This record gives sequence, C-alpha cells and structure tokens, in this order.
Amino acid sequence: MAFKIFLSPPQICGQEQRYVSDVFKSNYIAPLGAFVNRFEEDIKAYTRSPNALALNAGTAALHLALRVSGIRKGDIVLASSFTFIGSIDAILYQGAIPVFIDSDLDSWNLDPKLLLSAINALPKKPKALILTHLYGQCAKVYEIMEICKEHGILLIEDAAESLGAFYDGRHSGSFGEFSALSFNGNKIITCGGGGMLLGKDKEKMEKARFYSTQARENLPYYEHLDYGYNYRLSNVCAAIGVGQLEQIEQKVAKRREIFKWYKESLSQIEHKLEFMPEIPNSRGNRWLSTLRFLDYKINPLALVNYLAKEGIESRPLWKPMHLQPLFRDSKSFVNGVSQKLFESGICLPSGGALEKNDIDLISSLILDFIKSC
Ligand SMILES: *Cc1c(COP(=O)(O)O)cnc(C)c1O
Repeated sequence: MAFKIFLSPPQICGQEQRYVSDVFKSNYIAPLGAFVNRFEEDIKAYTRSPNALALNAGTAALHLALRVSGIRKGDIVLASSFTFIGSIDAILYQGAIPVFIDSDLDSWNLDPKLLLSAINALPKKPKALILTHLYGQCAKVYEIMEICKEHGILLIEDAAESLGAFYDGRHSGSFGEFSALSFNGNKIITCGGGGMLLGKDKEKMEKARFYSTQARENLPYYEHLDYGYNYRLSNVCAAIGVGQLEQIEQKVAKRREIFKWYKESLSQIEHKLEFMPEIPNSRGNRWLSTLRFLDYKINPLALVNYLAKEGIESRPLWKPMHLQPLFRDSKSFVNGVSQKLFESGICLPSGGALEKNDIDLISSLILDFIKSC
C-alpha cells in the first residue's frame, strides 16, 4: 500500500544534514565519536538525568537496565500490559518471567491499584517493574513509585515514546532507577535507529557502558572476563540525533497542535469517542493522537482499512501483552481496560509535517465512515 499520509514519518528540518557531513569530514563514522558524547550530554541536559548511555536501540537500553540490576533466570519482572513488545523483550532475554498489569481508564497506562494487588497476590516478590508511558502520555508515576519503594521493587521506565513528556515538571524517564528512550524511525525524534539508557547510579551505568561494548577489559589486547553486547550507537546516527533533539520542543508543540486539531474537527461526534487522557499535573508529547470509540458499532480495524484505501496510514491501538499468543501461559492481572482499548481504539496520523487541512481531510473521512456504521 502506497500511503500519501504516514502515521508518524521522520521529519528532518534542522541541522541534521550539516552534522552528518561534519561526521563524514572527520571520518569518525563509527563506532562512537564526538557526536555520541554530545548526544549523551544534550539528552542529560534536556531530561535532567545524571547519566546517559547512547545505544543502537531502546530495546538494548531496557536489556542493559535488567542485566546490570542482576535480573536473571526465574526472576519476576512486572510490566505494563498495554505496551509494545519492545518493553518486554528484555525480560525474555534475561530469562526472567514477565507478569502483566492492566491499565486504568483515566490514564490508559498502568493501574496503580492493580499493581498493588498483583504484588500482594504473587507468591514470590517481583524484582522490577517496567512502566511504559504509552503514546507519550505520562503514567501515574508518583503513585507507582511509592508502591515500588514500599515493596523494594526496582522501577524502570519505558520512555521510548515519551521524550518531551513531563510529569510535575520532571521529564518522563527521570523517576525510575533506569529508563529507556528510543530514536527509532517513527518516534518523535529519530536517529534512523537508536536508543538511550538513563540511570541514577553512576557505577551501574558504567557497567552498562562496559556491557554495551562487548565487555572488553581495559587492556591493550582483547581480554574477556564476562560477555557483553554490540549495542552502541554510531557517530553518524548520533549526529542525526543531536540535530533532531535541538527541535524537540517545537516537535512536541506541533504534535500537541495536531491533537488539538483532531479534537476540534471531530467535535461533532465527541459524545461517541474519547481521546487518550492527559493526567493532571502532566504534559504529554502527543507522539500519536489516539482515541477510542464509545460506540461499539464502530470497528476500528474497518476504519483503518477505510483510511488505507484513501492512502492514509493509521493503526489499531497496541494489542495488550496478556492477549498475545506468545504470553498465553504468562500470569497477568487484568481488569478489561486495555482489551477494551485495543478493541475500540485507533492511532491517527500524527507526523510533524501535517497541516490543518490534512487533519480536516482525515477527520472528514472518519466522519463519513462513522455515518456508514
Ligand atoms: C519503540 C519502543 C520500544 C523499543 O525501542 P527500539 O528503539 O525500537 O528498540 C520499546 N518500548 C516502546 C513502548 C516503544 O514504543
């Protein structure tokens, strides 16, 4: 299918090309180089995180967080069920056991009440929680932090979709012991592909750095006492990231404006739908504008197909982990919320280059579709 309007394509409109050509001139293409360090410094400054490690994927960041925290085979790791599989892969890489927690309707993110009942019900104490701020909207992070603290559970934030989202004036991903950012192709900023691990503990972050470069000892020849991974970001990718990050506030402002346009242009049917909420005391980045239909006659998959015929890419909401065949035998604590969201919701095109007339067009197609239901 050739789309005219994509869900969330990259948008390059700053210094990216110049920085990449600086990289070519210096011949520090890869691995590492000055832009990798600069990207880490810039992310630290923007998120106010004490430590940052640039990696080739957000998934790698989550993996290193678990590895340096000593999470291993048989350990229980709790996770948001309403998320993308990238949140969960790292748990499997470590041979740990994921246990899924459902969402609540006022945040669409992890339900703190359900988290507490899960902790109380499990026969074995969970070691960690991977908390996703889905679609760039903040989870109830203070309540969740409190519960984790009280029960000695390590909090890891999956902020892959939430760069530029703040809760109580603090950046998402700056609350947990660790957090992961992603710069994959369709995220709010991209390097072509990349990620970042943020963390509070300097020593553990240094360990993560060590594992991310094949665990090589500091010797003139390659000496290995332990095994690692090839997880670092190339200098070329970092140069793109530095250029993208310079525009993060404009990008967030634009995505929030797109969201506002959808809200306005769909206001005739506002009784039939609900947009993903923004919880009090937070500013989401509205990475994707998402909504769910309250009217069960409206089938989001049929709407996705209808829009696709017009060259417009949209997507159902993430299918919750506890409904994935892969996790058929996994434990989960559910209340029906994320299943309901999956069955009734849709992600709308939200790329930063969209204009008001694009949103009006998409909205009028949605209105036509709804009339036919
Ligand atoms: C994109 C994403 C990831 C993984 O990031 P990659 O950089 O693609 O490895 C993890 N979790 C969530 C919620 C994501 O959206």
